[in-house]
Amino acid sequence: MSKPRALVTGGAGFLGSHLCDALLAEGYPVVVVDNLVTGRQSNLDHLRHEARFEFRKIDINEPFDCGEVDYGFHFASPASPVDYTVDGIATLKVGSLGTFHALDVALKYGAKYLVASTSECYGDPLEHPQKETYWGNVNPIGPRSVYDEAKRFTEAATMAYYLYHKVDTRIARIFNTYGPRMQFNDGRVIPNFMKQALRGEDLTVYGDGRQTRSFCYVSDQIDGLLRLAKSSEHLPVNIGNPTEFSILECAKRVLAVTGSKSQIRYEPLPQDDPKQRRPDIAKANTLLGWEPKIDLETGLRLSLDYFRKAALERKTTRA
Ligand code: NAD
Ligand code: UDP
Repeated sequence: MSKPRALVTGGAGFLGSHLCDALLAEGYPVVVVDNLVTGRQSNLDHLRHEARFEFRKIDINEPFDCGEVDYGFHFASPASPVDYTVDGIATLKVGSLGTFHALDVALKYGAKYLVASTSECYGDPLEHPQKETYWGNVNPIGPRSVYDEAKRFTEAATMAYYLYHKVDTRIARIFNTYGPRMQFNDGRVIPNFMKQALRGEDLTVYGDGRQTRSFCYVSDQIDGLLRLAKSSEHLPVNIGNPTEFSILECAKRVLAVTGSKSQIRYEPLPQDDPKQRRPDIAKANTLLGWEPKIDLETGLRLSLDYFRKAALERKTTRA
């Protein structure tokens, strides 16, 4: 008997495409809907001849129906601060309208549902590390609000469909995740530093570099997400790596892994840039038996080939 069919919104993006691989490996037929605003068809090229895989170019800010599904994974949304501020209105729409449309598909087919939420729900956190019970410290009108508030709305809508419509939902609060297939030019810190290091350019550290992030390698993230998908937890669960680095230390790790002689250049800190971020993963650990296995240095080494290739390709296409 064939496995139930899964829908992945945003499946042409970084995390979505890895999720598709994992679902197919577990035997699920997969349908991706994506408007390619920040994702790329090339992230799915290797699935071109896979009979159980289907891609549909759809903007989920309009209602959509991709046929019967048993599981909906809602990952569509720009995710990098550069991307989500380019078109803040589209970001707000995909978090609100897009989320309703994805939830409506789950409601129509009685599908289970998991949404990719974010550590940005905690804003510039005053509690550290961040537990799921923390309500956050978010500027509702600042430059990051188009993303942060959209994701907080996404969580509210998801809980409402669970409570009012009995949709079987899950909410993953994803902390900074990196690895192959990240957009090379989306401005997030790991692709930026890798690109700069591999091209011998200065690494641009914003502010004094003492702000912190905790970086999770993509395979650990996908493992956590699939475990959550199989659980029956409806309240948010943090999925991230709890080892915390200052951004300056992260720059130094990138220089060491790439063997680059690039220098560090300090640039202004963007407004409302969170000063610290580290997940408390006790809940994921207890509930899902999950913890990340790959440290930053190993993850950067595993990503090196991808970023090297991307650096070379982009150099030859637009110097
Ligand atoms: P990404 O930009 O690589 O992928 C997002 C995908 O969504 C892209 O393929 C894009 O084309 C698609 N998309 C955006 N708007 C759409 C729309 N209106 N209709 C259809 N498709 C649309 O980003 P990512 O890093 O893979 O992030 C995926 C999800 O995980 C996002 O929801 C993001 O908020 C969440 N997340 C990611 C991280 C991380 O560190 N990577 C951290 C927290 C949360
Ligand atoms: N950052 C940096 N240099 C860069 C890109 C980002 O110093 O070239 C910093 C940024 O200011 C933030 C951290 O790295 O403090 C993580 O930024 P990213 O855009 O990856 O994601 P965020 O966690 O802020 O959403």
